[in-house]
Amino acid sequence: MDLILFGPPGAGKGTQAKRLVELLGIPQISTGDLMRAEAKSGSELGRELQSYMSKGALAPDSLTIQVFKARLEQDDAKNGAIFDGFPRTIAQAEALEGLLAELGRKVDKVVVIEVPDSEIVGRITGRRSDPATGQVYHITYNPPPPGVEVVQRKDDTEEVVTNRLATYKAQTEPVLAYYDKKGVVVRVDGVGSLDEVTERIKAALGV
Ligand code: ADP
Ligand code: AMP
Repeated sequence: MDLILFGPPGAGKGTQAKRLVELLGIPQISTGDLMRAEAKSGSELGRELQSYMSKGALAPDSLTIQVFKARLEQDDAKNGAIFDGFPRTIAQAEALEGLLAELGRKVDKVVVIEVPDSEIVGRITGRRSDPATGQVYHITYNPPPPGVEVVQRKDDTEEVVTNRLATYKAQTEPVLAYYDKKGVVVRVDGVGSLDEVTERIKAALGV
């Protein structure tokens, strides 16, 4: 199965993707994670990607598709994947369609995790992660266990979040119409406990 988790920054895409990996036996492909790893490597490409991430702007489609394609081609994604944070533009959606078609695949479902704007800033500014495991926490809603040293993403400030949300509305939300036409979109309420949201997604997918 090829599945897109869609929604604004902080909707819970990464959190829910990690849970679905276990359940569905397919990997999570997060372009945000891939770009942060590239930035950490200190490469020329990484420095360029970082300049967009720091502003809360989208990276150019050509670079994003290049990073994504290299990951999709890895062996563990041969039976499907959970796309988290990709596609974020119509051009990326078209590129994904082409890449999957070459493999005899298509986007089976787009799960939109709906969270109101009023919840977003608190979720993002409270987000922390364990650099050793990649596990994502929230200082209030999903606190890290005692003794776990967590870090905060550089772009998880109130100022950058405002830009990321505006970017989402202007450039990413319109991608939903592309998938609506294909009849593959399901919407779930993203407000509630982590477990409640997982159950809603499972019900929407029929798994
Ligand atoms: P995204 O990948 O969509 O940007 P994340 O999965 O990283 O979002 O979640 C953003 C923040 O919100 C994290 O700190 C996460 O722990 C927290 N979070 C995720 N799901 C929920 C939820 N249902 N209720 C409250 N907080 C949540
Ligand atoms: P995320 O981890 O999904 O919140 O993404 C963090 C940042 O990485 C975004 O604000 C963008 O700058 C960049 N990014 C991630 N995915 C994409 C994408 N599909 N297209 C363009 N930029 C992206």
